[in-house]
Amino acid sequence: MKTDRKVDSLSYVLQRRRNSRHITIRVRPDGLVKVSAPYGVSVAAIERVITNNKAKLLSTIDAQRSALHTYREGETFLFAGTTLTLKLVSSEKNAIAVTDTHLLVTYAEAEPQSLVVCTLIKELFRQHVKQRLAYWVPYWANRLSLDVPPYGVRDARSRWGSCSAKGRLSFSLRSQILDDEQFSYLVLHEMAHLVHFNHSAQFHALLGEQMPSYKEIQKSVFALQKESQLCL
Ligand SMILES: [Zn+2]
Repeated sequence: MKTDRKVDSLSYVLQRRRNSRHITIRVRPDGLVKVSAPYGVSVAAIERVITNNKAKLLSTIDAQRSALHTYREGETFLFAGTTLTLKLVSSEKNAIAVTDTHLLVTYAEAEPQSLVVCTLIKELFRQHVKQRLAYWVPYWANRLSLDVPPYGVRDARSRWGSCSAKGRLSFSLRSQILDDEQFSYLVLHEMAHLVHFNHSAQFHALLGEQMPSYKEIQKSVFALQKESQLCL
């Protein structure tokens, strides 16, 4: 159960969880505060925790928001491991193209709208991730002697990829910022979950066998978590 609440001028979303034993507070990349707590804990107790941590929370929200793209001319975006500069040009229709150095967006409105630019960039990223997956999923299926699983691209903010209990893989369109080595690792990681549905020692042994330098690559992917956010 989720509810929107406010304490001491700070908005947050409260999620009650049956299986959690602690109060956890998380600030999403867009600055939204999410609190999860067991059913037994009173709202007063939860809000005491929030109030006691308010200064720290406010500075985290600030840091998260300042790292977000504003979709203005000249902003830079990572794209398959290279840095591209956003160029906005007035035209008859909204469209996007990639050059060696730029993300070129044309806009039909009087002024470029951040939401329109963001949506175009996300769509572009989604298409490129699809193309890259069409290469890397069969590649790793072959290496791991697996059938090619069903997979898709989602606008996920916190996860790079996931593997469902039914064996369907999902990848975030944010993963378009990754270079080929990082992208390949991401696909290997999710494909390896079709063999070991956990992060056990066997799972890591499989990653190490297939990609000896996977630990450093994994670290470099985690380091891009903030940079990869495309939400407004
Ligand atoms: Zn995993």
